[in-house]
Amino acid sequence: MKKEKEQTGESRPGAVVSRGLLAGGNFRIFAVKADDLVADSMRRQKLSPLAAAALGRLMMAAMMMALDIKLKKARVTLKLDGGGPLGLVVADAEPEGQVRGYVANPGVELPPSAAGKLDVASGVGKDGTLSVFRDVKMKEPMSSQVPLLSGEVAEDIAHYYRLSEQTGTAVGLGVSAAPGKVLSAGGYMVQVLPGAEEPLIRAVEERIRNTPSVSGFLEAHRDARSAMETLFDGMGIEWFEDVGFSFSCRCSRELARVLLVESMGKEKPEEAHEVRCHFCGTSYLFTAEELTGGTREGSAPIDEGRGE
Ligand SMILES: [Zn+2]
Repeated sequence: MKKEKEQTGESRPGAVVSRGLLAGGNFRIFAVKADDLVADSMRRQKLSPLAAAALGRLMMAAMMMALDIKLKKARVTLKLDGGGPLGLVVADAEPEGQVRGYVANPGVELPPSAAGKLDVASGVGKDGTLSVFRDVKMKEPMSSQVPLLSGEVAEDIAHYYRLSEQTGTAVGLGVSAAPGKVLSAGGYMVQVLPGAEEPLIRAVEERIRNTPSVSGFLEAHRDARSAMETLFDGMGIEWFEDVGFSFSCRCSRELARVLLVESMGKEKPEEAHEVRCHFCGTSYLFTAEELTGGTREGSAPIDEGRGE
């Protein structure tokens, strides 16, 4: 069992997000390659290939959205609640390069889709909502909810942009995974900017429509930038600085204690309690004294794993 906060892998980069302007500034473009991040989550959270695909897609969307200046560089939390066997899928990302996520039922497997792919849509379900929470520091957090279109994630994110941001956005997200192994994880997001003319929009849509599988396409390129340069060959992309993301969890011993005390209400604990963070799997163990507030934080001998 993992001990407290020893290692959440904070320094290991697992994904790189590139962003820029496409076709003379008529479109904003984001692209991500996240093979290592998704492989890391698969190991850390014992994800089935199906769960890794659903979570990988959602984490990639969260990373790109966290860097979307239209969303004012906010922490973005995405929650898929589609009623499928995977249960809730949650991902959040911060513009400084932290990302985390979890799947409620990480071991679920399903037969492949008609196209022979991991059937993310059936795993997530489409009887429910995509919730988007944006936390811009110093301001009220904002949230919106849209009904799920397909549970495939990419279409649902595009649907969110159309309904809530009134922005035409094409989204492609793909994860190719086998048991214990992630072969490829990547995606992109292209947004129409004001002033873009119809024929140009159609030309971009055409390129996107003709892309084969997103994960296969990204796998065939060494990074997301070169994949986008192939996809939009001849249209011109002006790149900004890339942002590296790694798995990082904001949980802490004190936060875990507060939540546990809250969840117990008036009940007086008689024995030690353990809570486990959904995101990173860290376990926090508390004595009854700590939970009744009889002992100052950090003063009880809990286990050898604490190293503050
Ligand atoms: Zn955690």
